[in-house]
Amino acid sequence: MTLTFFNTLGRELREFRPIRPEEVSLYTCGPTVWNYAHIGNLRTYLFEDILKRTLEFAGFRVKHVMNITDVGHLTDDADQGEDKMLKGAREKGRTVWDIADLYTKAFFEDLGLLNIEPPAIACRATDHIEDMIRLIQRLEGRGFTYAKGGNIYFDIGRLPDYGKLARLNLEDLKAGARIAIDENKKNPHDFVLWFTRSKFEHQAMLWDSPWGRGYPGWHIECSAMSMKYLGEQFDIHCGGVDHVSVHHTNEIAQSESATGRKWVNYWLHGEYLVLAKEKMAKSAGNFLTLSRLQELGYHPLDYRYFCLGAHYRTQLQFSFEALDAARSARAKLEERLRSLKDRLRVISSPPAVVNGKAKAYLDSFSRHLADDLNAPRGLSDLWGLVKDEEVESSFKLRVILAMDRILGLNLKQVRRQDIELDEEIKGLIDRREEARRRRDFTEADTIRDRLRTMGIILEDTPAGVRWKIKK
Ligand code: AMP
Ligand code: ZN
Repeated sequence: MTLTFFNTLGRELREFRPIRPEEVSLYTCGPTVWNYAHIGNLRTYLFEDILKRTLEFAGFRVKHVMNITDVGHLTDDADQGEDKMLKGAREKGRTVWDIADLYTKAFFEDLGLLNIEPPAIACRATDHIEDMIRLIQRLEGRGFTYAKGGNIYFDIGRLPDYGKLARLNLEDLKAGARIAIDENKKNPHDFVLWFTRSKFEHQAMLWDSPWGRGYPGWHIECSAMSMKYLGEQFDIHCGGVDHVSVHHTNEIAQSESATGRKWVNYWLHGEYLVLAKEKMAKSAGNFLTLSRLQELGYHPLDYRYFCLGAHYRTQLQFSFEALDAARSARAKLEERLRSLKDRLRVISSPPAVVNGKAKAYLDSFSRHLADDLNAPRGLSDLWGLVKDEEVESSFKLRVILAMDRILGLNLKQVRRQDIELDEEIKGLIDRREEARRRRDFTEADTIRDRLRTMGIILEDTPAGVRWKIKK
């Protein structure tokens, strides 16, 4: 299975070739735990989950690392605004450490409810301050930093290809309307690596460093932690589109300046979930959470299904009508599956290989997901298969469950309307199987007829012996 992804770096579809043949190294930017994740944030984590599951489906082991930003940060990516953690703490009347724990827990609960596979390593920024300090020292050693007004800055003027990810034109930027809020900066796009002079009163999280007591800038945590766990070069880095121009641009600047070589091969970015044409943002306060959707009677997987209906690189407009449609589609899917499982009471296990039409659906599905994660087309393949009466039932079930390894709709858990066979019937079925193994077909047929009079129909299919209730 050849995978192709749209690489933000270079803005082109590229065949995916990992650095190591079997293992993919994946870093996804995690939450800032100063509030609940909103459903826009969750859309990004869902896209990353589809990516990871597709890689696994294609046979790769995925080493997935995600950061938890629990250090105080600003409400604006470009070093402006208010400290997010302090804001969250003030709103709750708790310490910043408490709210970090509270919202980290809430975040992982949301991931679980959405059936998002958790990362192999979830690393907290506050546990990695030493790593960040070491990385800043490395940058300092290579001449990429300057100290001004008590803070340590990254000097983008030393890096000729700064902004390559976002295709920033630095001359335009300099000439543009941006106001350098921070007068210490040589260039408005320089950014802070280490603060000792906090702009905020009552800065709660402070650590000793060679530059004085203070706290790290935001971008450095992702460079330090990803390289610690994935090495100085790794395969894929993801996040939402808003990260392209500042956060990821600055992560690249730091990492490549420290090592002197290319850092990440593939950059994938998920588009926004929008509310009435505006992005959904925590800072703006106009956000919906997963628990709010649950209060309104939706299942978290309804939201997962809703997101699967749009390609990750297109904006998705949220509306309750669209969420209702997703909910009823998912209910129909589960209903179909329930009746399929009802019809299919497989006695002997189904064959390991599927062939014919069922396989064609699976191949089409795999092709669509391999083609830059086209989940909407994958969903159509699933529905095509579900509705196709010509596909043998046990193959159908097998392929649906295979597709769900990527879609993650928990279809395995859908229960048939369980009618337990009583002991007498089970005994008769076993005796018939035994007779067939002895090639005593007269005895086998007699038992089959007896079962029929009891309302149980047996079918010998290529997938094994099945039973169903006589209608
Ligand atoms: P944050 O917790 O603010 O750092 O955001 C977590 C992730 O959600 C980041 O990858 C963001 O790019 C992403 N994100 C933020 N807002 C939205 C949105 N409205 N739609 C989709 N993703 C978003
Ligand atoms: Zn990051």
